Amino acid sequence: MGKVMIIGCGGVASVAIHKCCQNSEVFSELCIASRTVSKCDALKAKLEGTTRTKITTAQVDADNVEELTALIQKEKPQVVLNLALPYQDLTIMDACLAAGVDYVDTANYEPEDTAKFEYKWQWAYRERYEKAGLTALLGSGFDPGVTGVFSAYALKHYFDEINYIDILDCNAGDHGYPFATNFNPEINIREVSANGSYWEDGHWVETKPMEIKRVYNFPEVGPKDMYLLHHEELESLALNIPGIKRIRFFMTFGESYLTHLRCLENVGMTSIKPILFEGKEIVPLQFLKAVLPDPSTLGPRTKGKTNIGCIFIGKKDGKERKIYIYNVCDHEKCYAEVGSQAVAYTTGVPAMIGAMMLMNGTWKKAGVHNIEEFDPDPFMDALNRWGLPWKVIEDPELVD
Ligand code: NDP
Repeated sequence: MGKVMIIGCGGVASVAIHKCCQNSEVFSELCIASRTVSKCDALKAKLEGTTRTKITTAQVDADNVEELTALIQKEKPQVVLNLALPYQDLTIMDACLAAGVDYVDTANYEPEDTAKFEYKWQWAYRERYEKAGLTALLGSGFDPGVTGVFSAYALKHYFDEINYIDILDCNAGDHGYPFATNFNPEINIREVSANGSYWEDGHWVETKPMEIKRVYNFPEVGPKDMYLLHHEELESLALNIPGIKRIRFFMTFGESYLTHLRCLENVGMTSIKPILFEGKEIVPLQFLKAVLPDPSTLGPRTKGKTNIGCIFIGKKDGKERKIYIYNVCDHEKCYAEVGSQAVAYTTGVPAMIGAMMLMNGTWKKAGVHNIEEFDPDPFMDALNRWGLPWKVIEDPELVD
């Protein structure tokens, strides 16, 4: 029984908040703190009367460490769950240190002016968190998040050593728009328009954006085109999974999405360099975000399934072994349950579970840690219980 503070009230936060409210035994109190407090108030009004969790709301600018520290000190949560944007990770980590509270997020820090996401900025807080006796749990979404938990689980129960991991993120949902993104458009487009890369034999191999394409026949979804991207969990898994020789990340994209993206890139609309427009500086990508559909409105229109998981190849008792662990999630079922589509759902559920692991003391390790550094079993059980059941297949189809 305790109090969590959730920062941000967008698509992912909305799901995590619904899930905390379903789990009142652990989350007896919840403070929703975000930039636009009217969104927090609207969600509070929707949920009150359906839950035993006591909800409060607050306006906060999470870029402002002093303001946020004062709010955390006033609200006294046990855990702060950061579901704002990657730009706020460091200021929220600073405020948690100042207020003496554990920290959880779902995406690693990214400076606003360079689309480069790396763990080095957050790993630099290790000593300070250790000294303060606080835990920072990094990357508790689906990918990163569940993909790291799947990796730790595979290592614990199926392998003596894992040599190859392919993370496959398939969204076969159809929202009926020619072009829309399933989470924050600015963050999503920065991610997919960057160069790809993968980890092989101890170093990074860089690729052009969307240079490597494969087709994979996803269970319960069917064959889909997927493209190799850089993704943040590759960096931590390369360090934390002993014996690893190669890790790659693939995401599915439809032709319509890619054609629109190429066109937007060609005309300069995905640029993050500010330009002068009618006497005012604007960032083209932020303007594009303003005209695209808000991902939180896609829920009622999206049909189909997601399938996200990892293929592991390694050794057990001297013999080669291959397994695939994945979750399938149905957009319409997610919408019926919490009013959001499956991309927000598959992120918001593990965010709630990560906060729960710290809140009830299941995971407690002072310092700054990636999710695969903890015992995966309680998290895997919680995924089954809280809406993201998973399957393990032996000898799956492989990606060449
Ligand atoms: P949204 O844009 O929908 O929501 C972000 C929220 O943060 C908004 O409510 C916004 O406020 C608030 N916010 C932004 N800046 C500040 C600030 N300075 N102070 C206070 N609040 C602020 O994003 P999503 O819900 O789609 O994504 C949330 C996070 O989840 C992102 O970091 C994203 O990268 C991550 N993510 C992780 C995934 C995973 O699997 N690991 C998958 C998908 C997303 P306002 O309402 O005023 O705009």
